[in-house]
Amino acid sequence: MKFNELGLKQEILTAIAEMGFETPSEIQAEVIPYLLNETGDVVGLAQTGTGKTAAFGLPILQTIDPNAKTTQALILSPTRELCVQIAGEVSKYAKNLPMHIVAVYGGEDIRKQLKEIDTTPQILVATPGRLIDLMERKKVHLENLNYLVLDEADEMLNMGFLDDINTILEKTPDTRRTLLFSATMPAEISKIAMNYMKEPVEISVGKKNEAAKNVEHYFVLTKQSTRYEVLKRLLDYYPDIYGIVFCRTRQETKDVAEKLMVDGYNADALHGDLSQAQRDSVMNKFRLRALQILVATDVAARGLDVNDLTHVIHYNLPDDRETYTHRSGRTGRVNKSGISIALVTPREKGAIKPIERAINHPFNQMEIPSGGMVCQKQLYYMVEKMQNLQPDKKIERFMPDVIELLKDMDRDDIIRRFIALQFNQLLEYYHNSTDLNASVQQEINSNKKRSSSDGKNRRGAYIEDDGFKKSRRQMRVADKGDTLRLKINRGKKDGFEPKRLLGLINDVTGDKSINIGDIDISPRFTFFDVDKKRVKQLLQAFAASPRAKGYIIGEVKGNR
Ligand code: AMP
Repeated sequence: MKFNELGLKQEILTAIAEMGFETPSEIQAEVIPYLLNETGDVVGLAQTGTGKTAAFGLPILQTIDPNAKTTQALILSPTRELCVQIAGEVSKYAKNLPMHIVAVYGGEDIRKQLKEIDTTPQILVATPGRLIDLMERKKVHLENLNYLVLDEADEMLNMGFLDDINTILEKTPDTRRTLLFSATMPAEISKIAMNYMKEPVEISVGKKNEAAKNVEHYFVLTKQSTRYEVLKRLLDYYPDIYGIVFCRTRQETKDVAEKLMVDGYNADALHGDLSQAQRDSVMNKFRLRALQILVATDVAARGLDVNDLTHVIHYNLPDDRETYTHRSGRTGRVNKSGISIALVTPREKGAIKPIERAINHPFNQMEIPSGGMVCQKQLYYMVEKMQNLQPDKKIERFMPDVIELLKDMDRDDIIRRFIALQFNQLLEYYHNSTDLNASVQQEINSNKKRSSSDGKNRRGAYIEDDGFKKSRRQMRVADKGDTLRLKINRGKKDGFEPKRLLGLINDVTGDKSINIGDIDISPRFTFFDVDKKRVKQLLQAFAASPRAKGYIIGEVKGNR
């Protein structure tokens, strides 16, 4: 289907074409024909980024009278930023029509808005609180309203606007058409629909209360005392991250952001204690990607219209599932996959199950990356960046001298030294880094001991963790076809056992993610299966590391 098949006016079609849109999105293809050809109300279940503004905006522009100087459409939205965004977008679609669109919202001098509203816009976009204020001053006239849109209705309720919304619904004419859009469908929204809407049709893109499908949901187990360290480890592991770290309180947001900035991360904070100008400045920097990591409270992040985050990190899980859906919905939008990671202590792990049920999606446990894994990831990232780099032409004039200076060094040595220049600090930092997985495991074990010696089953979900008892790494190798058999010159006579082999591989490679399969120990040798893709890395590490001195390792040829 194309936009020009929907029966929209030429003025609107021209504006849409100028914006470069040809095909209506899923929600548009459903909502626009319904609004143009039927008379009922609409409950639209759709997240931001689905094109819902045009889904309600275009039919409004098509059907209201641009020549009548009355307010015919009211769009309620939770935040100032969304109001401005909606008014801006609808104005673009209306550019060829004599339509007047005004946005009014809290946190801004009301006098300027009073003047604007005196011009009687045909379309008014407002936050509920400011609208009530203007209604009490008798400055808005809603008696000719044809459309009332509740956009991001669940967010408006989260922000405590329920009473204001009820007041507004009471004071607008019954003849209005009501359109309600929401990402989730909590009971209060169903109640609004029942009380104030006329036989609404429900149009939904994606399932009810379901988080975006292309989001992978993970949790990481941490001790309370190492939460910040775990966050840093994750940020280091994703050097190209563009994401939000959600915190529960303003104070926590400030603390985490400050620590990250001191530790050299490209991060900043967004919370309610900032002035509007400060908030705008942080949001702009983040939008422009001049800022990589935003540490934010849920409320402050609501006004942010950034759609394409690579990661959402829950420094703490939110109290309610809707908030989780909103947070994680900020990553993994249209055709992009995203990663949502929740940091939970063993005691908090119990909160995962209800969220899994609500979003209809499982969580996987992610191990905290080891120092070695971080270093490897950063190194590959740097190599990739180097490969994609277009060197500035200005470098050329220095090249002959530099080549002359380096002429006696071989290629490998040059590479090694450039890497060392860039990486020594990181390697140093991670050289003796703590195994954060082991430290949380110790805590789990000691809690378990305490719990069994108490003779009681203490509250807390850390009881469900059988996976820890076995070697995770051994469990991961599922298919023999994906492995190669290696042999090492240590066996039973040397007191060698599976644990020691795994410890040795950890030590030498600094990487706990190398999958090891079956291990067989003979008197003098140990044979073991390794993920084919990692064999080269393992052999190279054994050849290079001083920790591997005396060990001879190689592939087993022929029969096993
Ligand atoms: P919304 O969900 O209304 O916030 O829209 C998300 C983004 O998608 C906005 O930047 C719109 O300009 C854009 N958009 C809306 N409709 C379409 C469409 N049919 N094709 C491509 N992009 C669109």
